[in-house]
Amino acid sequence: MERLILVRYGEIYLKGQNRPFFEKMLINNIKKTLEPFGKPKVYKAQGRIYIENLKVEGIVLDRLSKVFGAIGINPAWKTDKDLEAIQAMVKAVMEDALEKATKENLTFKVESRRADKTFPMNSMDLSRKMGGFILKNFPGLKVDVHNPDIKINLEIREHAYAYHENIPGAGGMPVGTNGKTALLLSGGIDSPVAGWMIAKRGVRLTAVHYHSFPYTSDKAKEKVIDLCRLLTEYCGPIRLHVVPFTEIQQELYEKCPDGLLTILMRRFMMRIAERIAKKEGAQALVTGESIGQVASQTLEALASTDDVVTMPVFRPLVGLDKNEIVEISKKINTYETSILPYEDCCTVFVPRHPVTRPKLEKVRQAETLVDVEALIERALEDVEVYDL
Ligand code: ATP
Ligand code: MG
Repeated sequence: MERLILVRYGEIYLKGQNRPFFEKMLINNIKKTLEPFGKPKVYKAQGRIYIENLKVEGIVLDRLSKVFGAIGINPAWKTDKDLEAIQAMVKAVMEDALEKATKENLTFKVESRRADKTFPMNSMDLSRKMGGFILKNFPGLKVDVHNPDIKINLEIREHAYAYHENIPGAGGMPVGTNGKTALLLSGGIDSPVAGWMIAKRGVRLTAVHYHSFPYTSDKAKEKVIDLCRLLTEYCGPIRLHVVPFTEIQQELYEKCPDGLLTILMRRFMMRIAERIAKKEGAQALVTGESIGQVASQTLEALASTDDVVTMPVFRPLVGLDKNEIVEISKKINTYETSILPYEDCCTVFVPRHPVTRPKLEKVRQAETLVDVEALIERALEDVEVYDL
């Protein structure tokens, strides 16, 4: 008897002729996420993925549940196709189920599938036989075919397989199947969630963070590195670019109208992110903005930031309330890091009276007071790159 893991996938079924490409990417991503745990055999058969030669443990299942493209994960058992071996397997599966059970007076059901028609028993007979075996060996359990607490799935294929657990997968599409974007990643709650949502659709991420040393500390930078690391569990490897932003902020602060400070800062962020995106082969920008959340996220402000780039700007949180975003950040485990109290560059130079409905012409005009191109070039010269 051996242990293995089955991974089921959903939406990538729909991809017709591209299906092999999606499956291959999913297998690659699974292999990559399992690298720290050994060298498992990962292969596709019967429209799902088999993972063998790997210790089936909580941390491995947790990692697999974060791989986009998978919809369900079954920790499973495998044995020879003879009745005694199958009984021993069913016993092991039931023991595991009982160990994990949280209540008493449990009911169960065995559901069999016989893909190998040369196997002498049909699926009904096999289920019944194994059900009887369980009743005899586990006194106290009762059968409930409609709503059982424990469902043992038994499959007869090239081997006999069984499992009782179905761990939900992350859904979405395998990362790497839909191009690459550059995520403007602050240390806040929103932008990690925005990146996660885009990556969920199969998009690779590169991240750009603006750092205003010494107004923002090394702790703030480390926090963003930590957020990126957390995201890599879902999104695969991320290259983080930390861009020095102090000079730009100081220039704007000294030379431009106070009320437009935030908007002008955002325009610099977008321009620099677009340059980095181009260099990294990314096709769009991603931000964590949501309409009306703060003064710099009114429709006018958003339009004013888009004004300086030609790449599409994706704002996956645009229609979400803050509490909905918080909920996702808790689910994906970035929340606790996001709320660590290190100042962000946007909170250092805040205007006293931000203009909430900036007129585009006024914004463009204000910008002529600084040397945009020179500032961008100097910032790009000192970018720090971290491959996470
Ligand atoms: P977040 O929680 O993501 O920081 P926020 O609600 O605080 O968002 P803002 O501070 O106005 O909103 O930032 C809006 C968006 O601009 C962020 O979601 C992020 O994409 C980008 N951004 C803000 N500050 C930075 C930064 N220091 N580096 C990179 N991107 C940033
Ligand atoms: Mg912020």
